Amino acid sequence: MKFSNSYIGLGEAFYERIRPTPVRDPRLFLWNSSLAEQLDIPDELKNDPVALAQVFSGNQILPGSEPIATAYAGHQFGSFVPRLGDGRAHLLGEVLDQFGKGWDIQLKGSGRTSFSRGGDGRCPLGPAVREFIMSEAMNALGVPTTRSLAVVTTGEPVFRETTLPGAVVTRVAGSHIRVGTFQYFAARGDLQALKNLCSYAIKRHYPELRGEAQKSYILLIDKVIERQIRLVVDWMRVGFIHGVMNTDNTTISGETIDYGPCAMLGIYDPRTVYSSIDTMGRYAFGNQPRIIHWNMARFSECLLPLIHDDAKKAVDRIGPVITAFPDRFETEYMKMLGKKLGLASLGEEDRNLIASVLNLLREKRLDYTATFDLLTESLVSEAVAFRMKDELGGYFELWQKRVAEQHMVPQEVHALMRQQNPAVIPRNHHVEEVIRECVEKGEVTSAEKFLQVLRSPYEELPQTYEYQDPPSDGDANYQTFCGT
Ligand code: AMP
Ligand code: MG
Repeated sequence: MKFSNSYIGLGEAFYERIRPTPVRDPRLFLWNSSLAEQLDIPDELKNDPVALAQVFSGNQILPGSEPIATAYAGHQFGSFVPRLGDGRAHLLGEVLDQFGKGWDIQLKGSGRTSFSRGGDGRCPLGPAVREFIMSEAMNALGVPTTRSLAVVTTGEPVFRETTLPGAVVTRVAGSHIRVGTFQYFAARGDLQALKNLCSYAIKRHYPELRGEAQKSYILLIDKVIERQIRLVVDWMRVGFIHGVMNTDNTTISGETIDYGPCAMLGIYDPRTVYSSIDTMGRYAFGNQPRIIHWNMARFSECLLPLIHDDAKKAVDRIGPVITAFPDRFETEYMKMLGKKLGLASLGEEDRNLIASVLNLLREKRLDYTATFDLLTESLVSEAVAFRMKDELGGYFELWQKRVAEQHMVPQEVHALMRQQNPAVIPRNHHVEEVIRECVEKGEVTSAEKFLQVLRSPYEELPQTYEYQDPPSDGDANYQTFCGT
């Protein structure tokens, strides 16, 4: 692995140089061989689980890697915290993959840093496995996301409410630049650092914007908004509830990051929230579009002083981009829902149809994924069509009529819907069961089997049906935790 460390070039205000704290008995627990392939990890390392455990626990630092913990701030549940930073993560550096794309390689759970505050710098095995499974599932679903290369158990206990086995998860990301990274420097009034961060972010993620000076700040905001809209629309498509959309967990690259208290929507209800600490439902499923708008407004504010010395003039320039957000989101969101319903393009009336179908799902407390999966299959199976007619009544016939107007053969509509509607998602009860197997028995077989299914979510493999069942209790008492 050839590391470069471009983030270090940003200057010392951006990070702390610090090595991972070695662990007692590292063992490779989960390994992502296809990602390892993509990252060109050399064979001699790839084929040596003992060496992999040493490297991806942080016990051994490869030549060229200069570990750092990065600095960032963030709004947590709406309250600004000026200094958060990597309190239990080490950025080992960046590597180029087979396609020439650069990736950050970061260890999480690898020990304390100067950003740890009261924390122990460690990560229990359960949350590490959750991150691995959920990020791989999201990637296969076609949702932009950080990836997971490895989970290594540390042989050391982690003390939470109970004593848990410890682990280090290796996160692979387009970058780890967050809205909170910009906030960190904006809050300190460090304009030079902000400028440097903008140039760096543009170079890494929006190279098409280079060299446009002042104009590029507005364009950067516009591009980040575009990617975040695409991201959250995709979350809404597959029923993903992030659970902790704080600005430090919102990337500039538009990747999903931080799989702490995330969960999947079962029964369609926009108010669904599973995170134990989200008592007000700030990050409920249906609130995610509003929150990402809010987060993008916070991001834009950071760039105000770069856009104009006169704050009012700067606000006048950014204002329209932020005010346009809701309409822009709605357009993409409706297009996505249209495609979920097999509509290649949207007519005026279609918004009503979409709203009615979603309302019906909510009223009848139907499962989001299962309903769209069955609607998709109803195009090619009479038996399923019969069942759906029973389930959705008049709306099913309205929908059939609307789809028929498109003059597409059913197989074509089926193909369009199949691309949008997964046959399987990482349902909460299965994720929990697999995590239990991993943590209580130290057994990876169930995780590997689950991952195989999740890696082909739009296709029914022979074993897919084992994971399609909605939870028997409708996830009535389900709760997720931050996993810190
Ligand atoms: P998160 O909830 O994972 O987004 O983390 C919020 C902040 O808490 C970040 O600054 C983390 O680095 C920090 N943090 C979370 N868990 C720990 C831990 N076990 N030890 C030290 N810092 C932590
Ligand atoms: Mg975080």
